[in-house]
Amino acid sequence: MQFKKKYDVIVVGGGHAGTEAVLASARVGASTLLITQNLDTVGQMSCNPSIGGVGKGHLVKEIDALGGIMGKAADMAAIHYKTLNASKGAAVAATRVQCDRTLYKKSVKGFIEKPENLDLYADSVQDLIVEKSSVKGVISKGGIKFFSNTVVITTGTFLYGKIFVGNMTNEGGRAGDLPCNELASRLRKFGFKCGRLKTGTPPRLDGRTLDYSQFEEQWGDTKDTPFFSFSNFPRKKKFNKQVCCWITKTNKVTHKIIEDSLHLSPMFSGIIKGSGPRYCPSIEDKVVRFSGKDSHHIFLEPEGLFTNEIYPNGVSTSLPIEAQIKMINSILGLEKAHILRPGYAIEYDYYDPRCLFSTLETKRIANLFFAGQINGTTGYEEAAAQGLIAGMNAARKSAQQSMFVPDRKESYIGVLIDDLVTLGVTEPYRMFTSRAENRLNLREDNANLRLYKVALDFGLISASEFKKTNQISIKIKELTTILKKIKIQPKPDMKKQFHTFFGTELTKLVSAIDLLRRPNVRITNLIRFLEETNLGFEINDFSSSVQKQVEIQTKYEGYIQRQNAENNLRATSLKINIPLEFDYQKVKGLSAEALQKLSSIKPKTLSQASRIAGVTPATISLLSVVLKKMKKTEPA
Ligand code: FAD
Repeated sequence: MQFKKKYDVIVVGGGHAGTEAVLASARVGASTLLITQNLDTVGQMSCNPSIGGVGKGHLVKEIDALGGIMGKAADMAAIHYKTLNASKGAAVAATRVQCDRTLYKKSVKGFIEKPENLDLYADSVQDLIVEKSSVKGVISKGGIKFFSNTVVITTGTFLYGKIFVGNMTNEGGRAGDLPCNELASRLRKFGFKCGRLKTGTPPRLDGRTLDYSQFEEQWGDTKDTPFFSFSNFPRKKKFNKQVCCWITKTNKVTHKIIEDSLHLSPMFSGIIKGSGPRYCPSIEDKVVRFSGKDSHHIFLEPEGLFTNEIYPNGVSTSLPIEAQIKMINSILGLEKAHILRPGYAIEYDYYDPRCLFSTLETKRIANLFFAGQINGTTGYEEAAAQGLIAGMNAARKSAQQSMFVPDRKESYIGVLIDDLVTLGVTEPYRMFTSRAENRLNLREDNANLRLYKVALDFGLISASEFKKTNQISIKIKELTTILKKIKIQPKPDMKKQFHTFFGTELTKLVSAIDLLRRPNVRITNLIRFLEETNLGFEINDFSSSVQKQVEIQTKYEGYIQRQNAENNLRATSLKINIPLEFDYQKVKGLSAEALQKLSSIKPKTLSQASRIAGVTPATISLLSVVLKKMKKTEPA
């Protein structure tokens, strides 16, 4: 049977990539259809119900700036907010929220049910309709042919998904969901380069069986709660109740249980061939890789407000259930813990992202786009970011409009896509701030200011949303100009007031903006000083967020200049040769990932090193310094 309506865009899969894809497509004005296996699992969090973190939070802010929903849904579902790296500066400070799993799913579903030009349909897609190397639509398991101008595939871990608990194996896209083997088989036949990757999840615990007196409490940020969305979206509503998380840790007994059971873990017995996420390793992995460590932290995180389920973050495992029970019960405070759902590993097909253009359209089949975990990434945020770009570009391609390629200098989304399509992946890719050469510019706090113009140009935000951010941008420039103009003279009464405010001497004429560059001068203090000294300043004109942005921009200006100079230097250093016998072990500050990959690949030049997936711009800068120093000290 042929479906009556032809769409501009069809998106297959309603996970994190798929939901952002359909909404971006609909925002751009395309008639859009989402076909997903089950409409009740739209926006489901397969693993930890948390959004954000270092690098990932940056992506969420950018998704939000481009009109996406991940930040808004996270705010609606948040039960524990935290700013990570808060003391390390704005560039690496990152928002992370623990969500109520059910509320998150509910809010995502609410968002996708709104647009009039977005239809939903529950079925599994099992084939693509392709004519003359161009996709024309999809065929569902129910036998319906759906036609469209473009198709976006966002099938996550479902392509030939295989679940492992000890030596028990079954087919599944994730626990409780069927895999999609028919589509997986068709995609392999189209000749895309396919590989296998794996990931895992911990057992879930019954919160009523834990001894909380044994744990360290960990409350979220209750002051200056760091909302994800720039849009004030949830602030109009009442906040969800905020809950406590707890910390406990593994011990020698736990490690012994794991070591004794390693032969039963499919990750070690060689049954699972795919690589796993390096930065989210299983507890088996951690015990083997860090054999000198006697314990590892476990964060006990509630799964929601209306459930007793607890997510023990840090003990992802594929051990047999008996070993999982023993391991959990060996941990302080978890002696009587009851496992509600066993942990498991999953192995699935992914496609080499080098088969994609930077627009996320495949090179082999025109008008077909891939986004999310299918491209070798891990994480909701990475998936959502790709989904937004693929959905928007599919819609624009359908309307024969130019497509958007995010620039790695301007966004983490640009870094993500550029890394994927140029370097490919050898293991699940997750975002880190170290992957960006311009990380001092690419901050969470300025994501809206970086992207609002492009968001309007490509139809992702409305004129009124643009106006709001543009107004903020104007005010930031205005305040900066005022502070540049104000000069503080070292006159006797001024010197006295200056000392009272800032605790240091005013020895020479200084502009207010230069004063703000000093590490101990905060903008709120500076503004009070300017008001009290009648230096012609009207505080009411500038909101606290405008003031904060001016402070960050001013303090970062010098560092950004230095970063740009380093970037130029790195570009000219790429020709440097690396001696074959070069010992990477001796380079201080090299990440474990870089050390392992460089030592085994032994690149001949820095340029070659820079093309290894996982070798970041920061690593190249470090190596260039070391190699240049070596050259200087070499005997002539
Ligand atoms: P998914 O969220 O998987 O969504 C895919 C959607 O497509 C589903 O709704 C599915 O029903 C639908 N679908 C699939 N095939 C078809 C079809 N043929 N027709 C119609 N619909 C289809 N990430 C981390 O960052 N850290 C972790 O520790 C981590 N652990 C994980 C552990 C497990 C066990 C799993 C399963 C995932 C884990 N993840 C982890 C990954 C995270 O869940 C994914 O990165 C993220 O969900 C990917 O989003 P996606 O949109 O690409 O795919």
